Amino acid sequence: MSIEVQQETLKSTNVTEYIGKVLGLIEKENLTVEEAKWITEETVEGFRENINPGFLEYRKTVTLDNQFAAVEWSDEGSCFKDVNGKEYIDCLGGFGIYNVGHRNPKVLKAVQDQLQHQALHSQDLLDPLRAMLGKVLAEITPGDLKYSFFTNSGTESVEAALKIAKMYSDRTTFISTTRAFHGKSLGSLSGTAKGVFRKPFLPLIPGFRHVPFGDIEIMRKTFEVCQFVGEDVAAVILEPIQGEGGIILPPQNYLKEVRALCDEYGALLILDEVQTGMGRTGKMFAAELYNVEPDILCLAKAFGGGIVPAGAIIANEKTFKSLFDNPFMHTTTFGGNPLACAAALATIKVLIEEDLPTRAAEVGKYLLSGLRESTVGYEDKVMEIRGQGLMIGIEFHSDEVGYEFSKGMFDEGVLVAGTLVNSKTIRIEPPLTISYSEVDQVIATFKKVLSQLR
Ligand code: PLP
Repeated sequence: MSIEVQQETLKSTNVTEYIGKVLGLIEKENLTVEEAKWITEETVEGFRENINPGFLEYRKTVTLDNQFAAVEWSDEGSCFKDVNGKEYIDCLGGFGIYNVGHRNPKVLKAVQDQLQHQALHSQDLLDPLRAMLGKVLAEITPGDLKYSFFTNSGTESVEAALKIAKMYSDRTTFISTTRAFHGKSLGSLSGTAKGVFRKPFLPLIPGFRHVPFGDIEIMRKTFEVCQFVGEDVAAVILEPIQGEGGIILPPQNYLKEVRALCDEYGALLILDEVQTGMGRTGKMFAAELYNVEPDILCLAKAFGGGIVPAGAIIANEKTFKSLFDNPFMHTTTFGGNPLACAAALATIKVLIEEDLPTRAAEVGKYLLSGLRESTVGYEDKVMEIRGQGLMIGIEFHSDEVGYEFSKGMFDEGVLVAGTLVNSKTIRIEPPLTISYSEVDQVIATFKKVLSQLR
């Protein structure tokens, strides 16, 4: 925008007055009908003019003529509310970030307590919470994982893992899998599998090969070929259960067999547990489901307790040692900041004390069987329902049916959504704290919406 146009725009809005109004609304406990209306109009207008009008076309929460838009405002437990006070059960869970529930009071308290004396770190002194969280992670993660590097998001965790694998191995080949999703920054996008997200940015990081997820023979042949042509594999990167790819579970021995191949060829195993980690699948980490120890574990999403954006990688000493000489080889200003560490520490305490991984396994089983029973007679619409813990996918026969279904659920007050790689599959990833009565409500709504699908 040219300076003249920018000044013209600024002239039409008194910025400080406008911000004052917004801050005043944030401060309020309850909104009036007029305020809710103003917020909705400003939101739709703001998305159209200053964010990206494409969202208004895409969002199922906005009607075609923009007459009505669901604009979120508050959240608690398993639910969030829009500005008009309509409540939704959150079965999308921010794509898996609300494992301990929305605004868990214990996580909130830890963050508020930390805010009272320091928000961000100096970057120069030693910040204590980073060390303490590192110690806790070394205790709770599988095998001999020991050293942590903290990030602000999933894609950053994957970037860190890839760079450390290169530093460690002096190799440049990575094996990823079809339907993988590892993020959208250029390094992690190289591992991500969906063409539509990758194509405009090619060439990505050289050296990535994708093999079909779950097929150990092709993985073995790829290792052989890479060695034969002198492009030895630095690492295999895998989601133990693919999330964005459509909630795809691996064959039972697959991860163990991949681990063995990595050992045979001197490659590292990076497990991307950005979505499966922190109790989601019925264990604290999905690696435990398959009895596998990675060299590097990637975390994010639920790691900050749904309150502060936070991520981490945890690596074994052999792998991480390559950063000892110069810890500044890979850095990020905000990674591991005191607020994020306070949130992560409190989140881990809640997960352990309330045994939420076990709860995810039990409630997940109940929900999965309830959903499966409800599909009897609707086999022409629903192809399969699968899942592990509270990571459940409902695969429809077509994108259109899946879209109609998620819209129907939304109208009935249950938020669900497709996956980024496979939009035929609707994912169900509620907080692990969801109550049985809320689960019953989800199942009843599922049944009702299914019966209304054309
Ligand atoms: N890895 C996995 C397995 C994910 O599911 C995601 C996000 O969906 C990412 C990485 C990227 O995380 P973020 O969106 O925080 O960058």
